[in-house]
Amino acid sequence: MLASVIIEYSVKSLNKVFDYIIPPKFSNIIRVGNKVIVPFGSSKVEGFVLKIHNNIDESLDYREIVDIQESDFYLNDELLKLGKYMSDFLLCNLISCYQVMLPRALKASLKTNINRKYEVKVYLNKSIDVDKYILEHKRNKREIEIINILKEKECLKKEFGSSINRLIEKNIVISERYEINREVKLDEDTKKIFLTSDQNKAVDEIINSHDNKYLLYGVTGSGKTEVYIELLKNILKMNKTGIVLVPEISLTPQIVARFKGIFGNKVAVFHSSLSEGEKYDEYRRIMNNEVSLVVGARSAIFAPLKNIGLIIIDECQSSTYKQESTPKYNAIDIAFKRGEYNNAKVVLGSATPLLEQYARGKKGVFHLVKLPARISGKFPSFDIVDMNIESKKHNYIISNKLDIEINAALSRKEQVILLLNRRGYSTFLSCSNCGYVYKCPNCDISLIYHRSSNSYSCHYCGYRITSSNKCPKCHEDAIKDLGLGTEKLESILEKKYNVNVLRMDADTTNTKNAHRKLINEFSSGKYGILVGTQMISKGLNFENVSLVGIINPDASLSIPDFRSGERTYELLSQTAGRVGRFDLPGKVIIQTYNPNNYVYQNVIKNDYDSFFNCEMNIRHKLMYPPYFYICSLLVTSNTFDKAKDESVKIKDYLDKHLDDSYIILGPSVSSIVKLNNRYRFNIMIKYKENDKLLKVLKEITELNIKNVNIDININI
Ligand SMILES: [Zn+2]
Ligand SMILES: [Zn+2]
Repeated sequence: MLASVIIEYSVKSLNKVFDYIIPPKFSNIIRVGNKVIVPFGSSKVEGFVLKIHNNIDESLDYREIVDIQESDFYLNDELLKLGKYMSDFLLCNLISCYQVMLPRALKASLKTNINRKYEVKVYLNKSIDVDKYILEHKRNKREIEIINILKEKECLKKEFGSSINRLIEKNIVISERYEINREVKLDEDTKKIFLTSDQNKAVDEIINSHDNKYLLYGVTGSGKTEVYIELLKNILKMNKTGIVLVPEISLTPQIVARFKGIFGNKVAVFHSSLSEGEKYDEYRRIMNNEVSLVVGARSAIFAPLKNIGLIIIDECQSSTYKQESTPKYNAIDIAFKRGEYNNAKVVLGSATPLLEQYARGKKGVFHLVKLPARISGKFPSFDIVDMNIESKKHNYIISNKLDIEINAALSRKEQVILLLNRRGYSTFLSCSNCGYVYKCPNCDISLIYHRSSNSYSCHYCGYRITSSNKCPKCHEDAIKDLGLGTEKLESILEKKYNVNVLRMDADTTNTKNAHRKLINEFSSGKYGILVGTQMISKGLNFENVSLVGIINPDASLSIPDFRSGERTYELLSQTAGRVGRFDLPGKVIIQTYNPNNYVYQNVIKNDYDSFFNCEMNIRHKLMYPPYFYICSLLVTSNTFDKAKDESVKIKDYLDKHLDDSYIILGPSVSSIVKLNNRYRFNIMIKYKENDKLLKVLKEITELNIKNVNIDININI
């Protein structure tokens, strides 16, 4: 018998498998989906068995499978099928699709070492007359004590220290080693749930209809989490399983705690702060059918649950559901595919869905369910401050209005949240003598000053140098840090308001559980003000916050991306949603140089529908999603000319092989020309049907283009 094995090896053809003979010792245990070690060239590699068959070609000289790894683990039929779908749709190697589904410990790679955890249990050897032994060894009190305990029940070996070893040596006691799961400790929130009539209606509507795709559109604070919980309870009652995806699990500890509090041991959590060993344990619990719910970020969509009845995608607008490295899958597409395989319901939930999601909801492609009211019944009041006027009064950072409100809130012993979506101290460094701007040598990006580490660093590649005032060009001590980052804002606020300021951004949350600790500290009331980047916009509930200030939203609006309007609307309304969730009334102040912009105007009216209509108009005119799909090709090379020449050739190939229904733009220099020492060119394709496109793109990946890398991103 032969096994067709796919291995981790760089081959041009996306799905190439190799056949190996199954030696007799494995013929009874091997199964499709197993991980095996096979010889390849002069080395050994790991791979997955995709097929077992008898089509032996006598003219070939087959080699034998060396070993089966983790024989109790295998990729099940559904995951095998899903990998094939991903490889075809995303134009990437099949093996990379399987690898991305697994925790590191189970990926096909000889480098991985599973850090297993064992315990040893001990019990009396039944074939020995222990009473006789006791009579003969009366003097050995400790041994007899142990035997008497073990007469009652089996125990863990560690309970007895080293004194049990002699009994084991003499075969009076038998010891047995078995693998155990590490205990993952997570906060639990056991608050009881009371549903409002809106929530009840939403639950009933989803349970009682026969559609498979839903969009739960609920304003911030409308209680989507409670709806999810009720739906999940219902699924468990039917003996089915469920998956809940959240954008970034470390940023949503409060939601995870609620799931844990309600479903206890039935839920496995894929948390980014779990060790590899803990992730492996959680995965094993799922494989062994010990859990029926999985909560996690993007990759939890591959959880090997059986009989899935419900998949929930919370904050479905989040860009974190799309993986940025190959395979560039979107977890929502995968959710729909798994929904199809399992005949399960897929529920997307958001207060600010992506335009294409809401458009599908309105068209009936998704069953649209609304939660129009906040549980607290309160919406915050909004003020837009025109910074053109403020800057004439020399108020560049904190406007007069915001200053008054901060003082008022602090004097009432209430707390304030300020959003500034720029981390670091400054946002760029420039010489006031010659105009030199500090840039990363690897990327075409300004360096940013970080005061806490006293360094200039690149936020893209991590390049870092010790800070110095001396200009590398004119050698004057004239380097000035310009622009405002969270670190600088923190120190300004501390001085101005004489209050403890807590900062939450990528720099203060890069250690294990740091995010959770910061949240607990802010809840405890030790701090008056919380300053943070977009990570403070989601999933946080603080009862004592009555004011939110948005410091520089224009920066987010001016990012050159067709989604920047949508993302800014989301960021602002989500951040605004942090106030007025409980008893305190909330106030939100937006400081902008563009007070009339439709994004801000709709945020303050809390009118997503009106924003949707404005934005749809723009998308229609510019032929962007949801009117067209977009595929982008990023061509990179270590020289500018090579990247440029090859992208021109690729563009020509696309022009020749695709008809007029495809709009092909570029090649153009990327908004970041150089990143990590590679020059970047973009080609953009707008289309309505992808059937021909996938074939042509596949041909391009198989063209023998040297010294450039082509990165294809379908449906961006
Ligand atoms: Zn200079
Ligand atoms: Zn860099």
